[in-house]
Amino acid sequence: MEFELWWLLILPLLFALGWFAARADLRQQSKEARRLPDAYFRGLNHLLNEESDRAIDAFVDVVRLDPEAAELHFALGNLFRRRGETDRAIRVHEHLAGRMDLAEKVRDQAHYELGQDYLKAGLLDRAEEVFTRLAPTALATRAVFCRLEIAQTERDWPRAIALGREWLAIPIERLEIAEREQRQVVAQWIVHFYCEQASEAALLAAAAMPEGERHPRVLQLTAELARQRGDFAAAVAAWMNLGEAAPIYLAPVAQQVLEDWRNAGRLDEGILWLEDCHQREPSSDFVQAIARSKLVLEGLSAAQAWATRALTERPSLQGLESLLALREGALPTGQTDAESASSALSETLIRQLLRPQLRRVARYRCLQCGFEGRQFHWHCPGCHRWASCSPRRIEEIQG
Ligand SMILES: [Zn+2]
Repeated sequence: MEFELWWLLILPLLFALGWFAARADLRQQSKEARRLPDAYFRGLNHLLNEESDRAIDAFVDVVRLDPEAAELHFALGNLFRRRGETDRAIRVHEHLAGRMDLAEKVRDQAHYELGQDYLKAGLLDRAEEVFTRLAPTALATRAVFCRLEIAQTERDWPRAIALGREWLAIPIERLEIAEREQRQVVAQWIVHFYCEQASEAALLAAAAMPEGERHPRVLQLTAELARQRGDFAAAVAAWMNLGEAAPIYLAPVAQQVLEDWRNAGRLDEGILWLEDCHQREPSSDFVQAIARSKLVLEGLSAAQAWATRALTERPSLQGLESLLALREGALPTGQTDAESASSALSETLIRQLLRPQLRRVARYRCLQCGFEGRQFHWHCPGCHRWASCSPRRIEEIQG
């Protein structure tokens, strides 16, 4: 009996405890709210009124009163940088970097952000200086990566190779998860850096990397260098390797490829080989190159029959244009036959109508940023990514 009475007392006691706890929590919260200095609200107000300079001054006051508000500064600086107001971002981060009373980690972070501001502002040598200074800190790996990007922007390939290799040599446990996934990508970049130098020695170095041995760009350059020294047999061998590794990369250079086969005295064999590549990775560039070579080797009717069949299998504007171009190039001018004269006239008309459309769809596009150009680029001029442009023309990406 006594036990039950005691039990009844517990409930109100629990209520009372809960009430006190809630009060205590509220008091704590209002105390923290009071601790947020007025300057913070002043800064926020300026920011909302788009008075960025005054907002910076107010937030500088906040950090003076409360050093833990550094995160706020970083957020503000990064906001300015994203909006393209790099001079303001630089002011904020310079202020943080110069505060000797802040923890070293915070100052290093501020230097890193400052480097990013300089990068965005295009002040590459200042950015390089800041990132170089971060070498002995915990941010060293990220700093090397940023310097690698600067070297690429400056097209300083020997330095890019050195920095890329330095970054790859960093033990994997010191890399962040996202950075670890980048390793394969950076190795591919280095192959491109070597290829940018386009010399025999650089090419040997690129091919010596595991990523470079069967890299389409290395194979293409091997063929081009072989052609320059007149060794067409070696050029043909390199093209055949490319045809095996990634035939679609033959498309932007298809005409030149068959030219090398012709110079090697093996054009008939080359045509059969390129037809096989076209079976595996169809492209209207292959159709065009093969049709032109067939015209030389086998005459108009064979070339025309082949191009018509290819066009029926895979209709494309570019394919149609190559077919029409065949006839126009091959037929003698000054027709006497009225019927063929009128058909030649209508074909000329069709080609004229095709031309503007063709110019639009015969471009190459970056699959990352949408940059479009008449030439195929290994390094996208729009977003500066490597191998992000498709070797297929727009018409065939869409089709
Ligand atoms: Zn791009």
